[in-house]
Amino acid sequence: MSKPRLQGKVALITGAASGIGEETARLFAANGAIVVIADIQDELGQKLAAEIGQNQATFHHCDVRDEVSVEKTVAFTVEKHGRLDILFSNAGKMGPLAGILDLDMEEFENTMRTNVKGVTVTVKHAARAMVKSKTRGSIICTSSVAAAMGGVGPAAYTVSKSAVVGVVKTACSELGKYGIRVNGVSPYGVATPMTCESYNISVEEAERNTSSLANLKGIVLKCRHVAEAVLFLASDESAYVSGHNLTVDGGFTMVCSSIPPPDSSI
Ligand code: NAD
Repeated sequence: MSKPRLQGKVALITGAASGIGEETARLFAANGAIVVIADIQDELGQKLAAEIGQNQATFHHCDVRDEVSVEKTVAFTVEKHGRLDILFSNAGKMGPLAGILDLDMEEFENTMRTNVKGVTVTVKHAARAMVKSKTRGSIICTSSVAAAMGGVGPAAYTVSKSAVVGVVKTACSELGKYGIRVNGVSPYGVATPMTCESYNISVEEAERNTSSLANLKGIVLKCRHVAEAVLFLASDESAYVSGHNLTVDGGFTMVCSSIPPPDSSI
């Protein structure tokens, strides 16, 4: 059997109680990492930590909109485990579905508070801990295909996820001298609670919708596919990858289907 890819590493994951974060917490732990599950959903987060096992996972309440809460969560991680090697800054919300003509600016600000301030402040405090302890860490932030093109997500969400790419760029440029890598991951549509609850649709419906528009056929995007990409960025296998925004979209953002692909005789 090959060596677990995150053996001995300590990882903090925000938005880890559900969806992509949950799957990544499970995969990190399966690869030998000690994981701190940070979320506002206490019950789900505690249940997940218990399922993974107390030797490898703990839950810590963390609201990424609140800097003190983030600072305390990072401090908890370092005090409990002695170090922080990996941050997966993943907590996010869809926000209002309205287009720009009807956008409620208070709802816009709330979305930015979670998706942009939340990611920025988490990177800030995780990076401070890594710099202090001279840890050559890896930071991964969750953006979206909505950052690559218009018309893929609601207005506020698209703005916020575009800003996350900016956070990755600036953090990459400032933290490289400390040996810290910073990358983004940009998934295409996955049927998580965020998607299903925002659009009030079932998992099956969400998967049908995204699959019908997908470029890559014969496979349905699952949280696991995104978690595998995050695992790569977190592990030493990506030791010289920084500032990259890894799309997990089956080519969706590379293709404009205005001209149908030619039919083959095969
Ligand atoms: P999800 O709803 O399953 O998970 C999001 C988690 O973030 C939840 O556990 C929620 O409690 C947590 N969270 C929300 N606000 C928080 C806060 N203020 N502080 C701490 N935790 C908070 O949804 P998901 O799809 O797994 O979303 C994870 C990330 O992936 C989000 O950033 C989302 O924007 C991004 N994303 C999702 C998709 C998709 O299609 N599902 C596509 C691209 C990007």
